[in-house]
Amino acid sequence: MRLRHKPWATEELERHPHIVIQNPSQHKGKWKELFGNDHPIHVEVGTGKGQFLVGMGVLHPDINYIGIEKYDSVLLTAMERVKESEQPNVKFLNEDVGELLDFFSDEEIDRVYINFTDPWPKNRHEKRRLTYKGYLRLYEQLLKRNGEVHFKTDNQGLFEYSLESFANYGMTLHQVSLDLHRSNYKGNVMTEYEEKFSKKGMRIYRCEAQFRS
Ligand code: SAM
Repeated sequence: MRLRHKPWATEELERHPHIVIQNPSQHKGKWKELFGNDHPIHVEVGTGKGQFLVGMGVLHPDINYIGIEKYDSVLLTAMERVKESEQPNVKFLNEDVGELLDFFSDEEIDRVYINFTDPWPKNRHEKRRLTYKGYLRLYEQLLKRNGEVHFKTDNQGLFEYSLESFANYGMTLHQVSLDLHRSNYKGNVMTEYEEKFSKKGMRIYRCEAQFRS
């Protein structure tokens, strides 16, 4: 993602602590208290500008969504979207996914979404891919038993790698689609990247991977 430096971004995010949660480790094990309800918690890792979570939040008011994005200048757009729509069920953390254990307790999350994550095509960067086994271990610990990871990408190489990574980890694969927009899958909410790539005629790959207990 091309980043435009916005020096005011951090301050602006801090000015909206009900949307971009500051000191998230204070809420570890207590996210339902912060949302003020008992609804399931779905987390998107590498959320970008928030289009997917805002769309999901409207469609599913009975789910609490938390997006994790490490770049403040990118998250600024996501924050502004939620500010405008006044959605109470969408929050963000300006944090790195690698730190998730500091922010959530074991089995506190009901689902993880990974959308159009950076492919890191060089072998030596494998550990940075958000579908690498090290990250799967993290998600497994934080997800409820038999929890699911829902994954979309335009990148065939990353998709093949991820299917293998999920299977090698012992996860079960469901709803594998090699061309999501020409499949009969209902209820898809497009991300920014998905919109951009599908306009160029590129295929979108999708699957759901479930941990076994
Ligand atoms: N999910 C969005 C979409 O589909 O439009 C954004 C896709 S963009 C290619 C990937 C995003 O993930 C970037 O905004 C990047 O900063 C974020 N990201 C990548 N690795 C991350 C990490 N370890 N922690 C937090 N964010 C990360």
